[in-house]
Amino acid sequence: VILVGGSISSLLALGVGIYLATKALRPIQQAWNKQQEFVADASHELRTPLTVMKTSLERLFRHPDHTVLQEGESISDAIDETNRMSKLVSQLLTLARSDSNEVEILRQPMQLDALVERTAERFRELAMLKEIQIESQVESSLEVNGDQERLQQLLVILLDNALKYTEDGGRVTVSCRRVSHAVQLEVADTGIGIAAEDLPRVFDRFFRGDKMRARTHPGTGLGLSIAQWIVEAHGGKIRVESEGGKGTRVVVRLPSK
Ligand code: ADP
Repeated sequence: VILVGGSISSLLALGVGIYLATKALRPIQQAWNKQQEFVADASHELRTPLTVMKTSLERLFRHPDHTVLQEGESISDAIDETNRMSKLVSQLLTLARSDSNEVEILRQPMQLDALVERTAERFRELAMLKEIQIESQVESSLEVNGDQERLQQLLVILLDNALKYTEDGGRVTVSCRRVSHAVQLEVADTGIGIAAEDLPRVFDRFFRGDKMRARTHPGTGLGLSIAQWIVEAHGGKIRVESEGGKGTRVVVRLPSK
């Protein structure tokens, strides 16, 4: 009886051990699955521009007698796809490095108001081409501990999206102000907005709004994932509010100095 009792208890202990080990390994398994998914999605996204480039080049090869003017469309497609691919590769590198904690985020005292004004200014010319007004409402002396280059990258992503998803003649407003123990940065637009069912997925890697829109507004679906990483690496929070057809507002809160 003692022997049977002993083997039952060791079996039980083994069972509990296996259960606990499986439970402990689950987050690792999940992280691994996520990484696999990322690699598969990235490969898929890289294949599309490569196929377009291959088709364009093969076309040129088949018609050696054609002039650049005659093949203008093919050449321009290949250039567009090369640009898209180099943006995609640099975004993929940023995310891969952030996943492996290879990127150091500097936390240096800096004036966020000056950075916001400077970056908004950089976009004014581009906005003018679409007759979009960029309005900035920025309080002065907004000091944060941050990484100047990364915060600029964040602003570029948000302004780029605001302009891309706003029709000609619209308005983009960038504001930055002090709220309790934080600095609140907002980029709002009067653009096409985001459908309610898409809103929870906008920070997912490779997520893009509906297919039709994806064709008319080229992108990679990685901008907001990078934006979220930058904000969280600064100890901040980011959220998106939107109503389809009315516009979008991205709200970022960064701890103030
Ligand atoms: P991308 O713009 O390259 O597709 P993002 O990660 O920056 O990728 O954005 C993900 C998706 O969120 C976009 O495809 C678009 O559907 C939606 N989105 C982001 N910003 C805006 C905006 N300002 N207005 C409307 N939709 C937006």
